[in-house]
Amino acid sequence: MEKMKVPYNYLSDQFPSGGVLLKNILADIEKLAESGEFTLGPQVREFEEKFAALCGVSHAIGINSGTDALILILKALGIGPGDEVITVPNSFIATANAILFVGARPVFVDVDDEYLMDINLVKAAITPRTKAILPVHLTGNPVFMPDLMSLRLHTGTYEISPYIIEDAAQAVDADINSKKVGSWGVAGEFSLHPLKNLNVWGDGGMVTTNSGELAEKIQLMRNHGLVSRDVCDMFAGNCRLHTIQAVVGLQLMPDVRKVSDARIKNAAIYDAILRDTSGVVIPPRSWQKRHVYHTYVIQVDWREGLVEFLADNGVETKIHYPAPIHLQKPYVELGYKMGDFPKCEAQAKRILSLPIHQYLTKEQIYYTAKLIRKFYGHAPWM
Ligand SMILES: *Cc1c(COP(=O)(O)O)cnc(C)c1O
Repeated sequence: MEKMKVPYNYLSDQFPSGGVLLKNILADIEKLAESGEFTLGPQVREFEEKFAALCGVSHAIGINSGTDALILILKALGIGPGDEVITVPNSFIATANAILFVGARPVFVDVDDEYLMDINLVKAAITPRTKAILPVHLTGNPVFMPDLMSLRLHTGTYEISPYIIEDAAQAVDADINSKKVGSWGVAGEFSLHPLKNLNVWGDGGMVTTNSGELAEKIQLMRNHGLVSRDVCDMFAGNCRLHTIQAVVGLQLMPDVRKVSDARIKNAAIYDAILRDTSGVVIPPRSWQKRHVYHTYVIQVDWREGLVEFLADNGVETKIHYPAPIHLQKPYVELGYKMGDFPKCEAQAKRILSLPIHQYLTKEQIYYTAKLIRKFYGHAPWM
């Protein structure tokens, strides 16, 4: 095989100098500069409306990051000290950090073979202090929300219904039975970080909800609690999405579907070639869900060796994430320890993210998959 470069990151492909997309964005930014509407300009509203339509919800609120979007959702729902929020230990650190940030306690449950919250373990984690459940649509693969939402949860003899908040940071355009993520729970959180499937030129985030009351509250909370220029209704900070990011987001929005379709296509090629490779476990698939492959995560034997072999052959890989959240310092201080979530801990040692982005060619995917088969001693595919 002839050597090829297969980069993990795609930003230089997305905005090449002289490209149409870059030109269009820069032209819109020039117009923004002329208008001077840098804070909560009309483009923020337009972006929110289009984002809400994309997710099939009645409200979307632009926030300055996904993390702050989560924090505002938790705060707006009145979650704070003394409360517990059930989530998973294998997410990006921001999920659990947001819970700690509002003063609540993250209660982790282990994950399943799809790297998602094991819904069967949620009941046992419920206590009278449980205020919310925060599933993460990790890798772009949605948690099967109907099962989570039909759980009958009890503490003692009382049936309780904690808020369900979706961390959809990695899963824009993913769905379960054609109903989009971010539209199932009381609220959803999205990230527009440069490496997320819908991205902007810096930080950005979005809250989605069908509750008019919650939307109104979060709109106030992102802007000092101001109902008008000089009247403050509640104590809050500054978490506004910058107009300049909304301008970028508006240009990228029409391609969201194309981006996920391309990633899904790439994943199908990997699946086909790697399916029966001993030493490799491909990501599970479900026909009821649209998995948008923010990451394409396989499990492998002898990961270090494979990573080195791929790197030597020009293929860049990543690990999302090598250290489970419950073993990071702030969570060890809460009393979590090695052995608490065996499945998550075992996966953390074996998972590997392959390049999956929308700018890869078929040849680059074949090349990467064939290298993996070669590494594990199979005849090259085809
Ligand atoms: C990226 C991410 C976040 C945080 O988003 P930011 O915009 O970077 O603050 C939260 N949760 C998950 C699962 C993420 O991947």
